[in-house]
Amino acid sequence: MLRTNSDSKRLLTKTIIMERRKFVKSVGLATAAAYIGQKVLANEQSTVKSSVIEGKPAAEFPPLPYAYNALEPYIDARTMEIHYDKHHRAYYTNFLNAIKGTPLEGMALSAVFASISKQPDPVRNNGGGYYNHLFFWNNLGTGSAGPSPELTAAITTAFGSVDKLKEAFSTSAKTRFGSGWAWLYLNAEKKLAVGSSPNQDNPLMDISTIKGTPLLTLDVWEHAYYLKYQNKRADYVDAFWNIVKWEEVNARYQQALKG
Ligand code: MN
Repeated sequence: MLRTNSDSKRLLTKTIIMERRKFVKSVGLATAAAYIGQKVLANEQSTVKSSVIEGKPAAEFPPLPYAYNALEPYIDARTMEIHYDKHHRAYYTNFLNAIKGTPLEGMALSAVFASISKQPDPVRNNGGGYYNHLFFWNNLGTGSAGPSPELTAAITTAFGSVDKLKEAFSTSAKTRFGSGWAWLYLNAEKKLAVGSSPNQDNPLMDISTIKGTPLLTLDVWEHAYYLKYQNKRADYVDAFWNIVKWEEVNARYQQALKG
């Protein structure tokens, strides 16, 4: 029987700790360390291995790597809460249901996407929705130092300057008709490129018109910005550059060059 407010707070804390322990046990320490987000401040620039994000789906829905209000004022807390807890969670649950009992169960996401053209729509849409959002949360944060010297050099070669890259990426994001995602990716020739994908598609999918290793993404579905920005997608896209976690992009670029 709970008698006081502090009793219920203690119980809540205890429950959270137990949930985290269960989570650590189910996914292993390294994966859990990457995901146990509430403890990771947005400006602590630890990065997540792409093998974690592109590997097998987590046994439990991965926690957001920061608090709902961490990206204020650029993305508001209410949008983050609905986006993470409703939209992303639904993709995760529906994806697990879609692959249950099939040969896809236990496969890495990268392998599932490589032959997605042979899979039914629920696998494509929910698998993409699960992966794209997981990727997106991890490439957002505050207090980033910017692209590394290596990445800056590659950006300059491909686009002319970092500002020109931002312009090209933003144009992709602003001009994607309907719902979809903008991407910076490393293509098969190991060159940087930008583009956009419809719905929940991504550059890892064999059916995608843009193909390669994703380095940075932006969700341009209306649910990602409508509460704060309404119809002004361009303002949301411009605000995005304040919360890019370049450390993640730098790390992914290094891994993609080796891969
Ligand atoms: Mn979304």
